[in-house]
Amino acid sequence: MYNIGMYAPSEKPLIDSFGRSVTYVRLSVTDRCDFRCLYCMSEDMSFVPRSQVLTLEELGQIARAFTELQVTKIRITGGEPLVRKNVLQLFQEIGKLPGLNELVLTTNGSQLPLLAADLRAAGVKRINISLDTLRSYRFRQLTRTGKLEKVLAGIDAAIEVGFEKIKLNSVILRNRNDDEIDDLVNFAIERGLDISFIEEMPLGEVSGHDRKEDFISSDEIKTHLNQSFELIPTTETTGGPSRYLKVQGTQTRIGFISPHSHNFCSSCNRVRVTAEGRLLLCLGHEHSVDLRKVVRSHPGNIEKLKQTIRDAMKLKPERHEFDLSVKPVIFRHMNATGG
Ligand code: SAM
Ligand code: SF4
Repeated sequence: MYNIGMYAPSEKPLIDSFGRSVTYVRLSVTDRCDFRCLYCMSEDMSFVPRSQVLTLEELGQIARAFTELQVTKIRITGGEPLVRKNVLQLFQEIGKLPGLNELVLTTNGSQLPLLAADLRAAGVKRINISLDTLRSYRFRQLTRTGKLEKVLAGIDAAIEVGFEKIKLNSVILRNRNDDEIDDLVNFAIERGLDISFIEEMPLGEVSGHDRKEDFISSDEIKTHLNQSFELIPTTETTGGPSRYLKVQGTQTRIGFISPHSHNFCSSCNRVRVTAEGRLLLCLGHEHSVDLRKVVRSHPGNIEKLKQTIRDAMKLKPERHEFDLSVKPVIFRHMNATGG
């Protein structure tokens, strides 16, 4: 076990040049994954060499620097975060950081049967689990390598250990899984879970599916759902881009993450750090700041890291623009972005 140091809160929060305060970081701990989802990766992916990936200790120092800059929420993501060796140690360290209100996780669920209890004990409060289909053969087609049964066992394990909130994330693609929208919502209702439908984003070139042809907007999904369920508006928010509706008579909320149809940039409160330590100010832009260089050239110097992060805020762009009719302008795949 390593120690990432003492807490020294800064009096100044992170504010970008458009007056938005940044209080939420998505920290990617690996770009690798046991799945190859059609919309996220191409079939033959190359991954960042291990020497270029931040060590767990470096990731911990970066997390600490952000919390000292008044970041209150950290999401661990990837790639598949739970395939990273010894990742539990990182959760345990970050879970102890003063000032952090929420340590959360996005996972494909495959490792949860093994890790759910330890993650809960490390202080993870809420988790998002990706699930696009309830049919085994289709799960295999969409993920190329995944097994539905493992993920369903992972969801059961997460329910069993009692996370405060579990949300399913579903990417719906036309003629691939759009006939399962109701089934996915019913699955969530039966288990008392939330579910968000995410519009596909054009990040990186993918083989095996046409993003434009397969695209379905949140509005189309909502129109469909309104015919099957009684949905009531809710003012509840998790501080993210999801807009929620509640299914009448249930605990389930349905969220819509609509980067195309409803731009949410004006209230953006987040930045991302990739597994190789690039601080991304916006998921729809390529520019980044190299935090790995700072941690490696000034080991243990949290002040240097904090200054670099503070300076980077001027680079946060006002908004993203996605256009499915042109070749991707963002070459990074989602697994390398920290979704
Ligand atoms: N492996 C984990 C998982 O699948 O939940 C965490 C990383 S994954 C990149 C995070 C989320 O991004 C998943 O819910 C996935 O469905 C979503 N995602 C991946 N590629 C996407 C894309 N091109 N557009 C929209 N969402 C995408
Ligand atoms: Fe892996 Fe998640 Fe990307 Fe699927 S969406 S390939 S599970 S990183």
